[in-house]
Order: sequence, then structure tokens, then C-alpha cells
Amino acid sequence: SKRRAYNGWQSYTDDLARRQRDRLQVDFQMRGALDNNELSLLYQPQVDLRTGLVVGAEALMRWHNSQLGVMRPDIFISHAESTGEIIRLGAWALREACMQVRRWRDEGHNTVRVAVNVSYRQFLADDLAGTVEAALSAAGIPGTALELEFTERVLIEDEPDTLRIFAQLRDLGVMLSIDDFGEGYSGLNYLRRLPIHGLKLSQLFLQGVPTNTSDVAVCQAVSGIARSLGLGLVAEGVENEAQRRFLVDLGVPVGQGYLFAPALSPDDFIQLLNTPPYA
Ligand code: C2E
Ligand code: CA
Ligand code: CA
Repeated sequence: SKRRAYNGWQSYTDDLARRQRDRLQVDFQMRGALDNNELSLLYQPQVDLRTGLVVGAEALMRWHNSQLGVMRPDIFISHAESTGEIIRLGAWALREACMQVRRWRDEGHNTVRVAVNVSYRQFLADDLAGTVEAALSAAGIPGTALELEFTERVLIEDEPDTLRIFAQLRDLGVMLSIDDFGEGYSGLNYLRRLPIHGLKLSQLFLQGVPTNTSDVAVCQAVSGIARSLGLGLVAEGVENEAQRRFLVDLGVPVGQGYLFAPALSPDDFIQLLNTPPYA
């Protein structure tokens, strides 16, 4: 049994060593991802839940590496957050997404907005507002065409600079929204203090709709908070018609999810924009 315990320990340390190597390998490959053109953004439509009209898109990052294959975004993003690489990747995503808005506008779609995910690490890095401003002006689009999605993680970091950065972003005219609203635990106090425009209802709570009574209650509560504070609300993870009906009855204006479309390539998204909703 002593021997087995030893072997167990050995395989445990082997496993740790392998995971360590894997991490270093991912770090190494990720540092070359931008220069090697391995990153791309897909665009998931955000639609008016009543009319089906596309009102915007969320830009979602993809990484295809020749050694590692296709990595899941939630995994490589949190990895990039721990190394700090997300600051460079995120700046690239902002520039790239703004250039797509330029393209939509050139094709006559002047009101379609893009939402870009911004990591708390970018928020704490140097001059997020400057990075955003440069991306807007390089693409020649107004701040109102860009929405930034933050998670509540930004708010619990409790940087003294948080309020100042939010104010700078607001002054650029960009829309600010809280992603995965309700999943965090930062309290509601910040909603009164920060210049936030909208909330995104986490898909976690939509999963049990309309059968699970506590999921229904949470959706109602979030919708009530948004309405009473005058905030926009986007429901994510809308997968079926029953969920869409529920949200319409609740007065939620905008949704995104597989019921409408997955994240699309830039060309497929443009094609969708050029197709009238009931054609
Ligand atoms: P998120 O911001 O909550 O993005 C929504 C995720 O839900 C996306 O996963 C999307 O593909 C997926 N989704 C969309 N519709 C449905 C649906 O109807 N049902 C279900 N079950 N899922 C749906 P994805 O693309 O794998 O991204 C995962 C996460 O990675 C994102 O979650 C976000 O936190 C992060 N992420 C992606 N791109 C970026 C980025 O450019 N920057 C940063 N900081 N994070 C990013
Ligand atoms: Ca998001
Ligand atoms: Ca989300």
C-alpha cells in the first residue's frame, strides 16, 4: 500500500508537471497569436424580441492555433487574464469590432451597434479610455455605436480609479453595460453611482424559463431593476420560442441566442443585415 501511495503521488506530480508544461505552451502560443493572425471575432446578432430586427451584435473572440487547435474562449480568455495578455488581445478586439461597424455603416446600416467584452484586467490597465478613443477614431465611428460589456468583477476590484474611468468612457459616448448581471455578488449600490446604460440578463437564469419558478422570479426581478432604474436590458441565451414569449411578456426589449443565430462570421453577419427580417 506504501508503494501504491507512492505511485499515486508520482502520477500526481507527473500530472502537475504536465499541466505546467501545457500552461507554458499555451502562454507561448498566445504571445504569437496576434502577429500570426490566429484571432478572429464572430458576431452574434442582438435582436428586437418583438420584431426580430437586428439591432446590434456582440463580438466574440475565437483563437485558432496550429499547435493547440481551437481553444474554448472561456478557457483561453481566463488564461489570458491571468498572464495579462488579455490587455493586448482586448485592445485588438476593440479596434477590429469598430472596423466592422465602419463596414456596416458603409453598407447603409447606420444604427447597428457592436458590443465588445472588456476584461477587468483591461479596466485596471493603463488608459482604457485612450484605447477605446483610438479604436473609434481609426474607424471613424461615433462612441454611441460601441457598447462595452463589463462583468461585476470590475466593480469588486474596488480601484479608486473605477469611477473616473467610467466617467471617461461615458464622455466618449460609448454605452456601458454589466454582463452576466446577477451572477456576481457586488451588490446593487454601484448601479446608482456609475454611469451604466444597460444590463445583460445572464443566460444562467433563462435556462429554467418558463418552468422553474425561481428562475422566473430572478428574471422578473432583473427586469424590474432595469425598468425602475431606466436601464436597457438584453437577455442572453434565448434558445426557444417559449423563452422569447416570456421575455416579450416581461417587456424585455432585446435578446440574443441560438433561437435567432449563433455567433456569425463577419460575412454571414452582413448577409443577415442585408436580409429583411420576414423575407
Ligand atoms: P459571454 O460574454 O457571456 O458571451 C456569451 C456566450 O454565450 C458566448 O460564448 C456565446 O456563444 C454563448 N451563447 C450565445 N447564445 C447562446 C445560447 O442560446 N445558448 C447558450 N447556451 N449559449 C449561447 P463564447 O463565444 O464561447 O464565449 C464565452 C465567454 O468568453 C464569453 O461569455 C466572454 O466571457 C468570454 N469572451 C469571448 N470573447 C471575448 C472577448 O473578446 N473579450 C473578453 N474579455 N472576453 C471574451
Ligand atoms: Ca458578453
Ligand atoms: Ca454574458
